[in-house]
Amino acid sequence: MEQAQPDFLVIGGGISGLACAWFLQQRGAKVRVLEAGRAGGKIQTLQQQGYLIERGPNSTLDNRPGFHRLLTELELLTERVQPSAAAKRRYVLKNGHLHPLPGGPVDFLRTPLFSWQDKLRLLAEPFISPAQQEESVADFVRRRLGQGFLDYAINPFVSGVYAGDPERLSVQAATARVYRLEAEQGSLFKGALALMRQKRSSQLETGPSGTLTSFKQGMQQLSECLRQRLATVLSEQCPVTALQPVTGGGWLVESATQQWQAKQVILACPAPQAAQLIAPWQPQVATLLGQIAYAEVASVSLAFARAQVEHALDGFGALFPRCEGVTTLGVLFPSSLFSGRAPDGKVLLTAFIGGRLHPGICQHSDEAISQQVLEDLRPLLGIRGQPEQHWVSRWPQAIPQYELGHLQRLQQAQQGLAAYPGVHWRANWSDGVSLADCVDQAAQLAERLLPA
Ligand SMILES: Cc1cc2nc3c(=O)[nH]c(=O)nc-3n(C[C@H](O)[C@H](O)[C@H](O)COP(=O)(O)OP(=O)(O)OC[C@H]3O[C@@H](n4cnc5c(N)ncnc54)[C@H](O)[C@@H]3O)c2cc1C
Repeated sequence: MEQAQPDFLVIGGGISGLACAWFLQQRGAKVRVLEAGRAGGKIQTLQQQGYLIERGPNSTLDNRPGFHRLLTELELLTERVQPSAAAKRRYVLKNGHLHPLPGGPVDFLRTPLFSWQDKLRLLAEPFISPAQQEESVADFVRRRLGQGFLDYAINPFVSGVYAGDPERLSVQAATARVYRLEAEQGSLFKGALALMRQKRSSQLETGPSGTLTSFKQGMQQLSECLRQRLATVLSEQCPVTALQPVTGGGWLVESATQQWQAKQVILACPAPQAAQLIAPWQPQVATLLGQIAYAEVASVSLAFARAQVEHALDGFGALFPRCEGVTTLGVLFPSSLFSGRAPDGKVLLTAFIGGRLHPGICQHSDEAISQQVLEDLRPLLGIRGQPEQHWVSRWPQAIPQYELGHLQRLQQAQQGLAAYPGVHWRANWSDGVSLADCVDQAAQLAERLLPA
């Protein structure tokens, strides 16, 4: 047993767990983070031969107050890299060609991504009544905006964020901000206008709103910084094998070789692992958390000489709607997005393949995965020859899916844990999958547990 008992044991040292530990420590708490592998979780940056490759997250939107606070406290604001002006352009595939998503009303009228019927149908959107019950993202969009928007705007977005299936994702859970526009304003248009007015008048505390953020040394610079600052309270290569309530209050946590005790515990590991730890003393909660599905994804980074790729690569990347029949979900253009991602004269592409609609991708060989990606990208980007290098990363538990019933499941799980004071969760399977969401929610949890 460790000598000094921490106030909080955090199980899982991905960004959620590290951020929780940081914010709790900043509020004076004694913490310990127990991480099965190396801290950082999904954040993994590789630097090789002049390339900077992100195996997991590439960037995140700097529009959550907690995220901005973390960067300020870690003195990382000046370590950010600015995205290029082209980052705003996102391509979507239609009929074998990549088209930029419209950036304004004139582009919108001109874009071939949506038919005239799709465009005219939008005029009716403010008059459509809100739904009375939980809907899938697909049903919500079909009802309010029509099939064209589902296919060429929402489906690719859902692929990009969740690698998910819009027919199964819950609009309330997966796209909560969009859902709230309907719930609170009765219409997406009215809601979007109200948001714009609110932003103008209140200067929301969100830091620089919506800027794509990465760092000079890539995303891992953030987790490494936390890893170093928390070094004395971080145990790596330390998978937690058991969690038990202690009679009289508090929690006992075990790894294969050690035990810890604390008043409070934060589960910051993926839902299936949290379920395993909870199962011995609250099997119903474990069953609920075990029902959270995950999308499997492989990311493939490909390096080419600039001359091998015909496309201008003048954007964030391209998304491939499911109805276009391409296996790859989409591709980012990291060397166009941030400086320092590829040597001069070279380009770096990072594609994602698999997802909820194509399970099993992680069982294929690196060669098979990268060949499939190359076959898909070759005609779309005008690629000649083979990549000079490639890197394949497998993520069997890439992204948790906020599917129909997700919020209810979490609520029931929360109720099931009510009889066990001092156990909390904070991970990407509740309240947002983006890195900035994970950090923001960690800040909120710390404030709730240790109010100023
Ligand atoms: C390929 C990919 C691309 C992505 N791209 C983006 C992007 O561009 N922008 C963005 O904002 N987000 C992106 N995301 C999502 C984002 O990276 C994740 O949602 C976020 O990093 C999750 O953080 P987390 O700490 O909640 O979970 P994780 O990073 O999964 O961390 C959980 C940790 O728990 C540990 N653990 C598990 N079991 C135990 C145990 N028994 N004991 C101790 N520790 C345990 C694991 O080892 C792991 O380190 C991407 C995700 C993937 C997979």
